[in-house]
Amino acid sequence: MSALADRFGRRHTYLRLGLTERCNLRCVYCMPAHGVPLAAKRDQLSTDELVRVTRLMVGNGVDKVRLTGGEPLVRKDALEVARQVGRFDLRSLAITTNGLLLEDRLADLEDAGLTDLTVSLDTLRPERFEAVTRRAGLPVVLSALEDAMRRGYGRGGRALKVNVVALKNANEDEVVDFARWAASEPLEVRFIEVMPFAGNGWDRADLVPMAETRARIEDSLGPLSALDDGPHATAQTFAQPGWRGRVGFVASMTAPFCAGCNRLRVTADGGLQVCLFGGSPVSLRDAMRAGASDLEVVSLVRRALEGKHAAHAGMDALAKAPPRPMVAIGG
Ligand code: SAM
Ligand code: SF4
Repeated sequence: MSALADRFGRRHTYLRLGLTERCNLRCVYCMPAHGVPLAAKRDQLSTDELVRVTRLMVGNGVDKVRLTGGEPLVRKDALEVARQVGRFDLRSLAITTNGLLLEDRLADLEDAGLTDLTVSLDTLRPERFEAVTRRAGLPVVLSALEDAMRRGYGRGGRALKVNVVALKNANEDEVVDFARWAASEPLEVRFIEVMPFAGNGWDRADLVPMAETRARIEDSLGPLSALDDGPHATAQTFAQPGWRGRVGFVASMTAPFCAGCNRLRVTADGGLQVCLFGGSPVSLRDAMRAGASDLEVVSLVRRALEGKHAAHAGMDALAKAPPRPMVAIGG
């Protein structure tokens, strides 16, 4: 086995696996109210294909897998995928979910080996939840988070993160409430800068830069101390003495973290995407369905990595030519 490295020596050990493009929410920064065009079911990877792709990646150095989407838990066989992927030799099996279907499935996900949980939640106010997601459901998501904490997520090396996309004039006035929550519970609340994707109507004016969010928190709660983040971290994390949790800032737009990128994405329809903002995907599905051997599939991955750029093109260039919708890429 040799590592999946690119021209810049970045070793790719983290696979983000899109289980579906479908979603039971319509977050305003992610997709239009009417949704986005979806691939036909037959064009999506089957359970066996998802597991095969993962096996090949794990055989070449990947030790962390995140199930994502779309909303991964709307896929009927999501648990079966988790069970099979969970049997591989992984350091971390994670999921990113909007939390609506989580509480019923968390015990089974835990049995499947789920080590890390990320729940996306942009507001703690019910009426705003409906405005941002265009659906109801805040109490369900909060209850799932409580359940996750009762089960021990957030402690003992099992990460519990809450992703908050900070938006101007929408939820930016809640960042201090979120930080207080991270102070009192074992959560990492991560404030994400909104990124441009096809169909999400990105407007630079909606962006709340990390520096602004941090200043708002520090103005209310006092100075934050930087914590030790690993070389591949997307979030810069901070806390204060005595906090149970921490806050993190994912500054993809104002302070990109491309230099430490170790991520590969496989979309629900089998497209390998070496960068969230990086060109056309390579279809592993077509290769597998045309009878490619394991070696040939891995060669495709290595070739795609040779074309990976050092960094993304910057927010203005991305805004002019936004990539596919986030649900199709696999957030
Ligand atoms: N549906 C799941 C969820 O929301 O957690 C998983 C997929 S979602 C695409 C993954 C993450 O991407 C979520 O935390 C979401 O907030 C984030 N996201 C979606 N659109 C975004 C955008 N335009 N800019 C920044 N983050 C975005
Ligand atoms: Fe669905 Fe997640 Fe996109 Fe919201 S961010 S619309 S929950 S995929």
